Amino acid sequence: MENNYKTIHQSAIVVDLHNDYMEERVHHPEHRLFGNNKHHTDVARLKEGGVNVQFFVIWTRPDEHENHFVRALELIDILNNDIDECKGEIKLVSNYNDILATVNNEKIAAVMCLEGGQLIGDNIDNINKLYAKGMRYLTLAWNYGTEWCGGANDDNSKGLSQFGKQVIDRLNSLGVMTDVSHVNKKSLDDVLNYTDTTVIATHSGAYNVNNSKRNLCDEHIKEIARRGGVIGSVFYPYFLNNTDKATIADVMNHINYIRNLTGNVDSIALGSDFDGIDITPEGLENVSKFPNLTKALFEHDYTVEEIKKILGENALRVFRKICG
Ligand SMILES: [Zn+2]
Repeated sequence: MENNYKTIHQSAIVVDLHNDYMEERVHHPEHRLFGNNKHHTDVARLKEGGVNVQFFVIWTRPDEHENHFVRALELIDILNNDIDECKGEIKLVSNYNDILATVNNEKIAAVMCLEGGQLIGDNIDNINKLYAKGMRYLTLAWNYGTEWCGGANDDNSKGLSQFGKQVIDRLNSLGVMTDVSHVNKKSLDDVLNYTDTTVIATHSGAYNVNNSKRNLCDEHIKEIARRGGVIGSVFYPYFLNNTDKATIADVMNHINYIRNLTGNVDSIALGSDFDGIDITPEGLENVSKFPNLTKALFEHDYTVEEIKKILGENALRVFRKICG
């Protein structure tokens, strides 16, 4: 039994949809991807954790920068530099075939993504420039949204504006996934009413398990699943159980709930939020610990096929469909 979960984990393609390495990196430039660092993420621990595909998030605090788009470009350069330092162990990729080729070559595939609509500035064409740099999902809002899309801390009078609809159109036409984590309820309703495309929630839990504003209500979970989208299971204790202490059992509560609500595991993925969270569940302290989640799935009697879907196949299915 012990061996089995390790074998399953090793043979699965493990995809984490949300890692905030860049946030720690900006504040502690001495801690890089290559070589051990004191935070949640580096190459050695990604390998130890069996992570094959890592989405790296570019994020700015809304009140910290004059020009978020310019800052986004700076951060993307820094990420590329840090990946270059990894001597080929990590490769930035932007399409499905390159992901598979990189993984088959036993290297880690990195995908760049942006969190927060402020990062595109107020020019719709900036989305094309970010796409050219490799952006493959945009989280429409952070906790404080923009003029065009409400965030989790905004009240529900704020929805998706006309400009927000143009953003969705542009993302759809380019092949960039729309991420609705952090988006407030009204804006998420608006997004789902406006477009019938597949959307993802990269790092969110289920509101009916824990009533955090960052978690998704049943209707939204069901609609994301109906469209073939995924929800990345988030590891932040406050989202899991409203306290500063959590275990893998709390992560499993959200996974089990979504499985029971939707009738299958097809909408379940991983979205750790490592390095974007100051506290972590017991047993999931950093990127090397993902096998512990596989062990828990195995012990909860998920089939091998279901475990592999949750670990990565579901996320890759959506990536392939939207990004190509
Ligand atoms: Zn976030």
